[in-house]
Amino acid sequence: MSESLEQHLREQLGDVRSRHLYRRRRVIEGAHGVQARVDGRDVTVFCSNDYLGLATHPELQAALVAAVRQQGVGSGASQLVTGYNRAHRDLEEELAEYLERPRALLLSSGYLANVGVISALMGRGDVICSDRLNHASLIDGMRLSHADVRRYAHADMADLRRQLDGQPGRRRMIVSDGVFSMDGDVAPLAELAATGRAQDAWLLVDDAHGLGVLGPQGRGAVAEAGLGLDEVPILMATLGKSLGAAGAFVAGSEALIESLIQSTRTFIFSTAPPPAVAEAARKGLQLIREETWRREHLHSLVGYFREAAARLGLPLAESRTPIQPLILGEESVALAVSEKLLQSGYLVTAIRPPTVPRGTARLRITLSAAHDEQEVDGLLEALGAALESRAA
Ligand SMILES: *Cc1c(COP(=O)(O)O)cnc(C)c1O
Repeated sequence: MSESLEQHLREQLGDVRSRHLYRRRRVIEGAHGVQARVDGRDVTVFCSNDYLGLATHPELQAALVAAVRQQGVGSGASQLVTGYNRAHRDLEEELAEYLERPRALLLSSGYLANVGVISALMGRGDVICSDRLNHASLIDGMRLSHADVRRYAHADMADLRRQLDGQPGRRRMIVSDGVFSMDGDVAPLAELAATGRAQDAWLLVDDAHGLGVLGPQGRGAVAEAGLGLDEVPILMATLGKSLGAAGAFVAGSEALIESLIQSTRTFIFSTAPPPAVAEAARKGLQLIREETWRREHLHSLVGYFREAAARLGLPLAESRTPIQPLILGEESVALAVSEKLLQSGYLVTAIRPPTVPRGTARLRITLSAAHDEQEVDGLLEALGAALESRAA
């Protein structure tokens, strides 16, 4: 063991702890649902991305188990070797049809999809314009591409146009979350698309939090804005949030998908996701399309929560999605309120820098179709008490 390594790491950890930025994992026992056992205590969860309650759905479980019996567990290799199973192909075809795009390509996670796709499409000398609040995986993809990255102020279309101007003859891309993951607001997608078209900049939208939740049949923020392949040529989303499974995909034209198969390193050099997970995602997709009540109940809960929170005077951010952040500012305050909530039986983790900008530590409250109004009432009561005890 190297003494200098140990000493270096201990000093770093001490520093992170003193700044209230230390991160630790909590152990979930049994199923991850709205009711969960966390570090040995029963709690109601208000911070998962399982927006439709599908992660524990019996039909997804059955689809996965049946597929494991037939196809085994691991996929054995990357998709270009022996890892591409019929389950993967069926899921890709169903996603493409659902999103009204010619093709889709499956990847093991959203992080890998964003890192791989952006660095495959863009390179040195190209320009990428990126919303300041974009997800870390998009940021890392841009870094890896070595393109010239320009960040525009959050959802600020005038700033975006300024950044795009004066770059004739260079390949240009605009990158945005569809629904911002830590804020819950929806990107100005129609304007992004219009700007992209006017300036011949390729638009990539990451709809990880819109898929399943917004738009007709849950087809996401992009479909809700009425945008098709021409407006949003590169559409990415994940399978581990509202779909209740794991993995991610990119949807677009035949040429886009074939090009990505040739050159996306996080796709080429990574083992394919287990086919059984693809079967579970297929079932999730089917339920998202058929069970409209899940989305309706979820949106009615969002309205219920916001009205009650407004009555309590809670400073909620502007958001109509299931992501309802309560911005508290100081890291230590967010941690303390989160801890108080846990003692009252509610799990809402504190989100701190670098996940969000300094001074905007928050509770990222998320609602799920698996919650009911009584649970929301309980959370609000506990939240009121936790904030009051802070003020006192
Ligand atoms: C969760 C998330 C990802 C990463 O997806 P994983 O499948 O969890 O790796 C990418 N983009 C956004 C906006 C996300 O919220």
